[in-house]
Amino acid sequence: MKKPLEGREVWFLTGSQELYGEDTLRQVAEQSRAIAEQLGAASAVPVEVVWKPVLTDPGAIRRICLDANADDDCVGLIAWMHTFSPAKMWIAGLDALRKPLLHLHTQANVELPWRTIDMDFMNLNQAAHGDREFGYIQSRLGVPRKTVAGHVGDPAVVTRIAAWARAAAGRAELGALKLARFGDNMRDVAVTEGDKVEAQLRFGVSVNTYGVNDLVAAVDAADDGEVGALVKEYQGLYRLAPELRPGGERHESLRYAARIELGLRGFLEQGGFRAFTTNFEDLGGLRQLPGLAVQRLMADGYGFGGEGDWKTSVLLRTLKVAAAGLPGGTSFMEDYTYHLEPGQELILGAHMLEVCPSIAAATPSCEIHPLSIGGREDPVRLVFDARPGPAVVVGLADMGDRFRLVANAVDVVAPPEPLPNLPVARAVWKPRPDLPTSTEAWLTAGAPHHTVLSGALGTEELEDLAEMLAVELVVIDGGTDIRRFTKELRWNQAYYRLAQGL
Ligand code: MN
Repeated sequence: MKKPLEGREVWFLTGSQELYGEDTLRQVAEQSRAIAEQLGAASAVPVEVVWKPVLTDPGAIRRICLDANADDDCVGLIAWMHTFSPAKMWIAGLDALRKPLLHLHTQANVELPWRTIDMDFMNLNQAAHGDREFGYIQSRLGVPRKTVAGHVGDPAVVTRIAAWARAAAGRAELGALKLARFGDNMRDVAVTEGDKVEAQLRFGVSVNTYGVNDLVAAVDAADDGEVGALVKEYQGLYRLAPELRPGGERHESLRYAARIELGLRGFLEQGGFRAFTTNFEDLGGLRQLPGLAVQRLMADGYGFGGEGDWKTSVLLRTLKVAAAGLPGGTSFMEDYTYHLEPGQELILGAHMLEVCPSIAAATPSCEIHPLSIGGREDPVRLVFDARPGPAVVVGLADMGDRFRLVANAVDVVAPPEPLPNLPVARAVWKPRPDLPTSTEAWLTAGAPHHTVLSGALGTEELEDLAEMLAVELVVIDGGTDIRRFTKELRWNQAYYRLAQGL
């Protein structure tokens, strides 16, 4: 079965020791291979699970950890102590490990064979204390990891492992990501600033600025035949406004939008960029603010942030990779305006133009309308409502001495009424636990107005990603109480400063 994150793999390690003899170790190998195969065969697991031979000595353990570090396809390790694996054997390996780790606390059998159980069975199936020894050494060494307990035949266990594997794939993408900024961030805006050196050290992503006229040159050089072919593609995919259709009075604007897409896509492909930003204050010779092009590139998996917001662009690309193959869609988003009817409070999110059609409820319409800022020609954009369903809204802020992720579990809903005069794509959602608590918590955390909205991911993938990156994450969800949340921020403030060392 083809996995949505093809080419990415997690390695399945089994710990034991020589003490038990050949016969027992052969059974350990057979059973752990069967567990790894069962996990790999689960449709929820988005990567290949690669079983590795049973580990029985410190040299082999250190070697597999070094091999994992060096292997670009390997996004993380799953470790299970089927028998008792004395944990001093794991010190060198775990100390060298630079890949995400999941400690799977499981066993080969679901039920105990009460009537036939003997000391041979006890000898073979001792994860109940073998994994405790392993848990101890991980905590003693301060190894970041996720611990999952239960049998792999339980879908809840598979779901938790799958979330971790998705986070690990996102982390791997982030580690090699290149982002192109066209222009700096919007003048005087604070929250879109950030430490790009710290981002490269902590996340791996490299963020660099290009003169917008380098992009303009690529746009101007786009081939007329390719522009025509792309316009035909638009006609097949979207409901085109009559004025944009061939022969329509504003068809030339659609052709120019297609030209922007070709130039932008070519620039990003040539440079190996998978994320980018634009800024309406710095458009150089571009005749329209890129709208349709940005929306379509996001739908193809590119990260994007408006007004030079590279942090949100980085987050979007990372989460799009983590969400590969899942329904729901993932988009750049901005909290825009509120419906404050008591008990029925809603947030309307949108942006000037740039919302990803992966979250659209139905076929987008392709329209052209004036844009009150930027001072350019009217931009072409896709207009749609977001698909209802559970989702998560995530923001990344630079707090000066560290990055902070804030996530809010929300429910996207259909707009209570049609919005015929709103010329941009939008999402309407009910934040959990309620709008006052959610927004008070969001503001207290200093979280940004630019976010990523994902109907594909939940808070678990984000928790796993934050653990892997050693980045603070605070979650606002159904259980959030503002007093406890405020205290959590204070405790985190102390913890993350201490954890950085002197
Ligand atoms: Mn904005």
